[in-house]
Amino acid sequence: MSPPINGPLIDSHGRVHTDLRISVTDRCNFRCVYCMPEEGVPFLPRAELLTFEEITRVATIAHRLGVRSVRFTGGEPLVRRDLVDLVAMVAGVGFDDVALTTNGTGLARLAPRLADAGLRRVNVSCDSLRPERFSRIRRRGDLATVLAAMDAAESAGLTPLKVNVVAIAGVNDDEVEDFGAFARRTGREVRFIEFMPLDAPGSWQRDQVVAAADILARLHARWPLEAVVDPGDPAPAERYRFQDGGGTIGVVASVTRPFCGTCNRLRLTADGAVRNCLFANADAERSVRDLLRGGADDAEVEAVLRRAVWDKLPGHAINDPGFLRPARSMSMIGG
Ligand code: SAM
Ligand code: SF4
Repeated sequence: MSPPINGPLIDSHGRVHTDLRISVTDRCNFRCVYCMPEEGVPFLPRAELLTFEEITRVATIAHRLGVRSVRFTGGEPLVRRDLVDLVAMVAGVGFDDVALTTNGTGLARLAPRLADAGLRRVNVSCDSLRPERFSRIRRRGDLATVLAAMDAAESAGLTPLKVNVVAIAGVNDDEVEDFGAFARRTGREVRFIEFMPLDAPGSWQRDQVVAAADILARLHARWPLEAVVDPGDPAPAERYRFQDGGGTIGVVASVTRPFCGTCNRLRLTADGAVRNCLFANADAERSVRDLLRGGADDAEVEAVLRRAVWDKLPGHAINDPGFLRPARSMSMIGG
């Protein structure tokens, strides 16, 4: 069957796609243990990266097809030179929400300019509140800089600020309550993300996954929680509020409670591949870069977006015995 030629971006299972993740680079100044190998990471040649004009053109076409929110990611998006200019170009398209996920290193300096350019909010990744452990997990960078970046982002109005924590058994899972206390103290929404098999090849082990249900049970035992119910929100994070009014926390249970049934996300990699799932294999990617560079008209680019969405599988297969991890790691796809 072929995708519809008009209407919103819909897949063959009826899911309408309204969220676009734009990876602006596969490069990063960190080497987090759950995302990249420590050494020998091959990076894309610069000429293979989409230009700002090319990214904005795809974003504009996606917006016309009903995409309402975009998020810049990578690699580390803030290492892409002049990112502020790209944010301004994409924000100018008219999306309802323009967000960014970052490791926080360059954020303190750039936050005011990003906000002026039209960025609405940021997620800052931070996997430990203990300086030594933070540096061990992320292999580079330091906790103080990232905490200062969170303050700067809030001062610049990039709110609500969310804090992404990848929970790994035996590595940082003893900090669940510390992060709960941090969320309550700062008003930031901490989101615990289950460790997914998208890291350096061969290192993910199932027994390293800390189940979202266990995290929630621990937090609930300390500070009773209640679910935040928002039927209109297909976002993958399940959100909970502290019953005493102490704020909210979230869990992204990609492994133990997959949310594929309501997934509304589409991804554009830094080298111009449209991916319909983090876990899609290379043969499911559809490149728009050569089309864009070959003078294709918008209808041709639209057809690629429609086809990429249409072909989305009903769900990822992480929990199937025959699961094959994607050839690209998280930093290359854009998390
Ligand atoms: N460099 C930015 C950062 O670290 O926030 C943006 C890109 S990063 C790939 C996006 C998010 O994916 C981060 O919050 C990171 O912690 C998360 N992530 C990376 N590898 C992961 C994995 N194997 N499992 C779960 N989350 C992962
Ligand atoms: Fe870089 Fe983000 Fe991956 Fe860490 S998670 S290595 S900061 S892209």
